[in-house]
Amino acid sequence: MKRVFSSFDLVAVHHARNLLQVEGIAAEVRNELLGSAMGQLPPSECQVELWVLDDGEAERAERLLRHGAQRAAGASPWRCSACGEPGEPQFTQCWRCGAYRSA
Ligand SMILES: [Zn+2]
Repeated sequence: MKRVFSSFDLVAVHHARNLLQVEGIAAEVRNELLGSAMGQLPPSECQVELWVLDDGEAERAERLLRHGAQRAAGASPWRCSACGEPGEPQFTQCWRCGAYRSA
């Protein structure tokens, strides 16, 4: 078991678990009930946590979640205006023809 995500936002943690589930990664939400004890425990202990059951999947899970967070921040996949090749949000240049992403 490995923790891949934690947040005070219960909805965000459940959303993260759904993302992993779609990718076939089994994960478990922990500390879900501690949120209600907020104010009595140090805040760092009240975070809702997401754990993947299989340590071998942890790295892939973290990558997926980073990707998901980027997407939530407004980054989206794009298509090269020169050759039509789809590009990942984190790249600003087409891997195929080298054209820069248009604004
Ligand atoms: Zn291109």
